[in-house]
Amino acid sequence: MNSPNRLVLILGDQLDLNGAALKNFNFETDEVFMVESIPEAQYVWSHKAKIALFLSAMRHFAKSLKESNHPLTYIQGSHLSIVEALKEKVIQDRITHLICVEPGEWRLKQQIEVLSKELDLHLDMREDDHFFCSHQEFIAWTAGKKELRLEYFYRLMRKTHDILVDADGNPEGGQWNFDQDNRKPYSKKGPGIIDEPVMFEPDSITQEVITFVKKNYSSHPGSIEEFWWPVNRLQALEALNYFVEYRLRNFGVYQDAMWTKTPYGWHSILSSSLNLKLLNPREVISAVLVAWTKYSLDIATIEGFIRQILGWREFVRGMYYLDMPQMAQDNYYAHQRALPSWYWNGKTHMACMQDAIGQTLQYGYAHHIQRLMVTGNFALLAEILPSEVCDWYLAIYVDAIEWVELPNTAGMALFANGGRFTSKPYIASGAYIKRMSNYCDSCKYKPDVRFGEVACPITTLYWNFLIKHRSQFESSPRTKLMTANLKRISDEDQALIVGHAEHLLNNLDNL
Ligand SMILES: Cc1cc2nc3c(=O)[nH]c(=O)nc-3n(C[C@H](O)[C@H](O)[C@H](O)COP(=O)(O)OP(=O)(O)OC[C@H]3O[C@@H](n4cnc5c(N)ncnc54)[C@H](O)[C@@H]3O)c2cc1C
Ligand code: SF4
Repeated sequence: MNSPNRLVLILGDQLDLNGAALKNFNFETDEVFMVESIPEAQYVWSHKAKIALFLSAMRHFAKSLKESNHPLTYIQGSHLSIVEALKEKVIQDRITHLICVEPGEWRLKQQIEVLSKELDLHLDMREDDHFFCSHQEFIAWTAGKKELRLEYFYRLMRKTHDILVDADGNPEGGQWNFDQDNRKPYSKKGPGIIDEPVMFEPDSITQEVITFVKKNYSSHPGSIEEFWWPVNRLQALEALNYFVEYRLRNFGVYQDAMWTKTPYGWHSILSSSLNLKLLNPREVISAVLVAWTKYSLDIATIEGFIRQILGWREFVRGMYYLDMPQMAQDNYYAHQRALPSWYWNGKTHMACMQDAIGQTLQYGYAHHIQRLMVTGNFALLAEILPSEVCDWYLAIYVDAIEWVELPNTAGMALFANGGRFTSKPYIASGAYIKRMSNYCDSCKYKPDVRFGEVACPITTLYWNFLIKHRSQFESSPRTKLMTANLKRISDEDQALIVGHAEHLLNNLDNL
């Protein structure tokens, strides 16, 4: 009998030499296969920096594979999709066994499974070891639950992995959740001096990629002039060390704060490295716990950060695989409006949107509250078709991969699945943005005006949304409070809000 002819497929977001794909690799007989697929970067209209980050990280990874003597076929600039290129390779080399880690995109996972059946391949699709919670564990956790909520899942993760719990299984600091301490705005005078994240000078590989992207993707959104993302394992580790040394201390308290021309705040900027698998979440959490003791940091900051990685990151991934493909179709409110064109160029009079979208186009980055409570909040209030919003988020952020982008956008920001894992829609008026930022100071609109020419569109649309969905909000004790304030607005003013909102909704491109 012939020995198996094994191919190890490594995707652009699976760049770990110690990852599951390369376990038991036989250097004599096995081969790694990687492909830069042009159609993959085009099927979502990706930000130039996102394309460059993926290509540069892949090429750096290919270099490490060669240095460690892994036989490798690396295809640059293929006009085939990943699966078409894979098919060609499998047929050409008479591959019998395909090894890969489960893709972070449901569509690709299905396509690989279909291809394997079609070509009678022995498929060894391995669980991604860059997560704490396996699919089976997540499904087991959901069993019999009426409500799927992050908080209880997160507590289970803390206990299971013995993170921030004492010997009796109780939470460190006496509480599971320090959210209340982690929601402060910057001082009225501004954020003061923030230690900037570590930024990496593009090396020759990255420079070559930047030139390639400028030439071949010139019509894609976003700028690539200030590209400094970590593109390999060493840089990602340096970024992690720098974060825990200099920036972690203020992460918690200012987690939700926003300020003009302050794109990163005190955030970690580690999502792209985590999602490309240049970093493992276990080592990120370990580094944070070491810094906690070393610098006697505040438990609220440490808990707030670990909640994001051990809680939200694991939870949304579990939900994605549980609810796909339905998640991509959900449209609870049946919203149908088109995404305003200024999401792609930042040309709007709304100062908050201008800043959040502007920095997104410049760097491919905005922090969580900008994504949720500025661009996401507006998209929900403006009744935009969820799939258009999701396409934008997937295209425009350097860390966007469907398993994490879709549940955050459709599930959290847009309530498109009707609250499957959130207790209420995340909506807010301009008052929230005013409280958490200085955006309103330079805006032509006024956050506390509900209708009329200078009314903040977010405020008008917020009240309009509550009026429109009043009965839904009042039917649940969790959302009842949100409509209580409507009672203080006269019927005449409510009619004016609805009329002004109608005008805004019909002119979204001109705001
Ligand atoms: C509408 C919307 C879309 C989003 N799309 C993405 C996306 O495509 N890719 C992505 O990685 N994150 C996404 N997020 C989550 C979050 O905004 C980013 O992870 C975060 O802003 C990345 O910046 P950071 O590394 O500085 O994070 P920090 O604020 O420093 O947080 C630390 C880490 O925690 C993890 N994390 C934090 N919040 C979440 C969350 N809600 N879900 C999953 N992981 C989380 C990330 O790995 C992040 O690096 C989205 C959030 C919203 C509201
Ligand atoms: S007034 Fe409204 S639109 Fe302008 S910055 Fe404030 S919240 Fe944004």
